[in-house]
Amino acid sequence: LVSRKKKSENTIVDINGEQIGNGQPHLVFGPCAVESYEQVASVAEAVKAKGLKLLRGGAFKPRTSPYDFQGLGVEGLKILKRVADEYGLAVISEIVSPNDMETAVQYLDVIQIGARNMQNFELLKAAGQINKPVLLKRGMSATIEEFINAAEYIMAQGNGQIILCERGIRTYEKATRNTLDITAVPILKQETHLPVMVDVTHSTGRKDLLLPAAKAALAIGADGVMAEVHPDPAVALSDSAQQMDLNQFDQFMNELKLPSQIQ
Ligand code: PEP
Ligand code: MN
Repeated sequence: LVSRKKKSENTIVDINGEQIGNGQPHLVFGPCAVESYEQVASVAEAVKAKGLKLLRGGAFKPRTSPYDFQGLGVEGLKILKRVADEYGLAVISEIVSPNDMETAVQYLDVIQIGARNMQNFELLKAAGQINKPVLLKRGMSATIEEFINAAEYIMAQGNGQIILCERGIRTYEKATRNTLDITAVPILKQETHLPVMVDVTHSTGRKDLLLPAAKAALAIGADGVMAEVHPDPAVALSDSAQQMDLNQFDQFMNELKLPSQIQ
């Protein structure tokens, strides 16, 4: 169902009027994890000031260590909804359990399925049964074929509003947190009719690479870019090293010359 052979025209995923896949770049920013209302609101204010519409933030955090901050859960979803309503933004957040799907759709505009759950088939099936867009991230050890099959699981249940997100894969290279598989973007766009985004934060794990990676993503045909922004990354409860602060976000936006800004 997700194959280009089944449908030749591009799927456009509508998120409160933002048409992902319409040929324009769409940018998603927000903190790694929702920590407080004030924290999310300060990022939302910066996002809104740039004329952007999409906000991210993790409420359920699938952390490598069980002793690390696991997220605020439903309380985090409530904060996101409150901020989204106040600032007129759409929110994207990860859900890690099929049991939370029904609750989550009441608070979120887009359900994210994270890299660690790309082959959690019960979660994929649950995401296939909702009437909300799904942002599906590539598993860190998943082939492109496995990634496409994961999207197929969602669409097979009836939900065709899927955005694919390349977020880097595991290789022997240690200079970056993961290796951004940049050519996955055109391959996914050739093989499927779905929009494709690139997460430059989790793929690179390096602040100095966010801008060049975002430029590369858009140049190679990505429909959007996701990156993490935190008002005070030094005290962030997760991904402290690679989140941009608000000044860096401002600089990132000024230097990421979007096609619409290039005369
Ligand atoms: C995230 O986007 O918050 C996240 C945890 O990313 P990933 O699933 O790609 O590691
Ligand atoms: Mn993160």
